[in-house]
Amino acid sequence: MVDSGENARRYTADDLGLVYDRLATRFGSRFSTGQALRDQHASVLTWLPPQAPDGVVFPESEAEVAEIVRVCADHDVPVIPYGTGTGLEGHVNAPEGGISIDTSRMNAIVAVHAEDLDAVVQPGVTRKQLNDYLRDQGLFFPIDPGADASIGGMAATRASGTNAVRYGTMKDNVLSLRAVLANGEIIATASRAKKSSAGYDLTRLLVGSEGTLGVITEVTLRLHGIPEAISAGICPFATEKAACDAVIATIQSGLAVARIELLDALMVKAANAYSGLDLPETPMLFLEFHGSEAGVAEQAERFGEIAADCGGGPFSWATKPEERTKLWTARHNAYWSGAALRPGGRSVATDVCVPLSRLAECVAETRRDIDETGLIAPIVGHVGDGNFHVQPIIDVDDPREVRACEAFLERMVTRALAMGGTCTGEHGVGQGKRKYLKAEHGEAALAAMRAIKQALDPKGIMNPGKIFPD
Ligand SMILES: Cc1cc2nc3c(=O)[nH]c(=O)nc-3n(C[C@H](O)[C@H](O)[C@H](O)COP(=O)(O)OP(=O)(O)OC[C@H]3O[C@@H](n4cnc5c(N)ncnc54)[C@H](O)[C@@H]3O)c2cc1C
Repeated sequence: MVDSGENARRYTADDLGLVYDRLATRFGSRFSTGQALRDQHASVLTWLPPQAPDGVVFPESEAEVAEIVRVCADHDVPVIPYGTGTGLEGHVNAPEGGISIDTSRMNAIVAVHAEDLDAVVQPGVTRKQLNDYLRDQGLFFPIDPGADASIGGMAATRASGTNAVRYGTMKDNVLSLRAVLANGEIIATASRAKKSSAGYDLTRLLVGSEGTLGVITEVTLRLHGIPEAISAGICPFATEKAACDAVIATIQSGLAVARIELLDALMVKAANAYSGLDLPETPMLFLEFHGSEAGVAEQAERFGEIAADCGGGPFSWATKPEERTKLWTARHNAYWSGAALRPGGRSVATDVCVPLSRLAECVAETRRDIDETGLIAPIVGHVGDGNFHVQPIIDVDDPREVRACEAFLERMVTRALAMGGTCTGEHGVGQGKRKYLKAEHGEAALAAMRAIKQALDPKGIMNPGKIFPD
């Protein structure tokens, strides 16, 4: 059983009882207060303690989401939007209790406008589901967090992944949204037009709002054509710094890599063991190029030269599609490979992002810090964006180890901020990064964010306990 946040509740047992009655009457078996289901809807993929909601409801339409939010708002009971629960910073925990709105049954692909390169989807559609659907039309949606996350959750966390260096993040690939606000009203944030100067950009306000401003009920996404040619390769380096120097030189040279990912030696070792690879256990870049046959060959050749200039190489190709898939599957499984390094340990998946010019320095200092602290902590990163992850695997029952890890995380964020970076490039704030928001944005910007939250959610029922520091 998990912590249900008994102490932090702002509503009475009578209020909760009334919400239970109304939801049970309206949604029947699509509403449950069963302990097992509630536990599954807490944040379980994080080292933060799980906090289960009081109940879980499965709407099938936007109108049903609006009904649920109104019922909860009537009784000041929190609502926690839920996609697939892969958020890594305690995003779907319910520190004040409340009702988890599981969007998995809202998984229709509403429309694909191939001629406009966009698709309209319900929030529970997952990225793999969408790409399977689009493949026959020669289109794809590029944002690829390692998990098969929901599009609603990805929009809500402003997610990205390995392709962001070429195609951008959810911020760049969401054209518009529909959402249910805290009072049950439904808004559409924009049209399908590729650009607009009409008023405040509510799309980008909701992208990254982590369920604290509304429940996203529909997303219009930008699509891309599947490139004529795709080639992938790997390139070893003696140090992470040399690999990062090659990344910086590659991006600065204007080479349009589609993916450029760093795995440190420990992560390569983990990937070898977990994914049955046989790579040299040294810092490694995984790359992918998209374009015409001639274009990708040219790009790869140019990269090989840059890597050699930085002391790396040889750059070797994965020529067959199945080899390419094997490599990228191994990369996408990095979290699970890392976790397998220490059976019984808990993964602390964290990320920071710095301006590209500071990447090599930031990774090298982080490497030194890991070694001095003595943590088991592989590094893996979307380094083309200056974004990297460290995954300490710790014994959460050992207070000394937990303290050492917390101090390390603090130093990692402080270092990134001092270099003009951010405390999170893609995972979001959730519960885990709340304490850094003031240092990153300053008092005045944080006050502006609080004012927006207050205006749109005056009762504070939308996913409370996230983003804002206490
Ligand atoms: C193995 C692994 C690898 C990962 N790799 C990456 C990566 O490369 N890049 C990356 O960005 N992330 C990565 N993540 C983190 C995670 O997959 C993303 O944060 C993802 O966007 C979360 O989507 P979800 O559907 O699981 O959302 P959930 O975890 O269910 O929810 C996340 C947040 O979004 C809110 N939310 C969910 N649905 C809605 C909705 N319809 N309306 C409003 N708010 C909503 C929730 O309230 C919560 O605050 C990884 C996670 C794992 C486990």
